[in-house]
Amino acid sequence: MLILPSWLISLPGQPPQENWGVRVLDDVIDAVGPNDDLRAQFPADEIIDAAGQVLAPGFVNAHTHLYGVLAHGIPFNKAPADFWGFLADFWWPLVEDALDQEMIAAATDWGCVEMLRSGVTSFYDCLEAPHAIPDALFVQKEVVERRGLRGILSFEATERVSQANGRLGLQENARFIDVCQQEGGLVQGMMCFHTTFTCSDGFIRQAFELAAERNGLTHMHCNEGVHEPNYAQEHFGQRTLQYYDALGVTGPGMLASQCVQLSPEEQKIIIRHNIRVTHMPLSNCEVGGGIAPAPELANAGVRLGLGSDGYINDFFEVMRGAFLIHKAHRLDPQIMPAHQVFYLATEGGARALGLKRVGRLQPGWTADLQLIDAHFPTPAAAHNLYDQLTLWRNHTHVRDVMVAGDWRVRAGVVLDVDASALRARVHDAALRMWAQAR
Ligand SMILES: [Zn+2]
Repeated sequence: MLILPSWLISLPGQPPQENWGVRVLDDVIDAVGPNDDLRAQFPADEIIDAAGQVLAPGFVNAHTHLYGVLAHGIPFNKAPADFWGFLADFWWPLVEDALDQEMIAAATDWGCVEMLRSGVTSFYDCLEAPHAIPDALFVQKEVVERRGLRGILSFEATERVSQANGRLGLQENARFIDVCQQEGGLVQGMMCFHTTFTCSDGFIRQAFELAAERNGLTHMHCNEGVHEPNYAQEHFGQRTLQYYDALGVTGPGMLASQCVQLSPEEQKIIIRHNIRVTHMPLSNCEVGGGIAPAPELANAGVRLGLGSDGYINDFFEVMRGAFLIHKAHRLDPQIMPAHQVFYLATEGGARALGLKRVGRLQPGWTADLQLIDAHFPTPAAAHNLYDQLTLWRNHTHVRDVMVAGDWRVRAGVVLDVDASALRARVHDAALRMWAQAR
């Protein structure tokens, strides 16, 4: 199949090519070139005429909590005073502890549809639902496979409920990783634990050991606000990443999400140990966590991705957050240019998650792609295309989405979805969760 658009972004962050397209063969990109050359070279191929559109790699949502949709608009007496209050008074008791497997399945389905509609083809999800294990990840897997996304699923193991519950969480991840590795499909697992303030040193080491035995990464939330570094200073006499370094777990197998409140020494540890980082500009604002030093990390070559955190899931909004927030914070309109943001939203996220051959449209890379409407009010050009896309598009402009060679969105419609039935299912799940909150 030939996809022949007006513009091609083959290497995110690099200049786009006008009237270039790709050939898709099975689940990979087979050839890239000028549209006319592809037509001449492969006269028997099916042609997708995408004039007036931009062909780009699908977005990689490098950090989300799909169950988060159920908390949208939840009745709540008082706004949390700080990040600790957000967790202890709100997020843990009213959301995560209330989750059951039907709620998780409904929210996962909603999230997959919302992500596809927004051009996301790969994602990493972090599920914390201590009373929904065992098997919560397998419930999610069935949903994600039906929707056809490339998904990495993890359970956020924590000892905050009990040590036994923590062990169950680690086992859930290990078992899930093993099953998915054996199947070799689009859904895979990842080891994950919560933070230094809900997990003991032995527990943290065990998580890393289980991941290393499986050649995989270990994810944790890190310094999302000032609470964790203060806690670490008080209990361990050093800041969070220094503590991880002392435990001997820092390295390229570590995926630290958030990384908002970093000391200069912690930034150096991330760079020195090749730690992977994910950046969530919008949810950092929501919880009052602060503004992450994402430009510094990106410019230092850290593998950095962007995530929605399950908060505002239109990935164009997430990109705008990353584009705008640092300019205001650093009083510098040149920081985080659109081409860099687009890179982080695609190839950068794939690298942070360790996804192989995902995030570019080059021969041999996976056919994970999107077509975005390019009828801008001003002419598209190589010098402005990343700005046009990052600043003036949103999910409604995503026309078609393909994951691993299969169309999942055509003409703006996610295929095989009964939208009203899905909404009713999510409403029902939310009402049951909210009933426990009252
Ligand atoms: Zn998160």
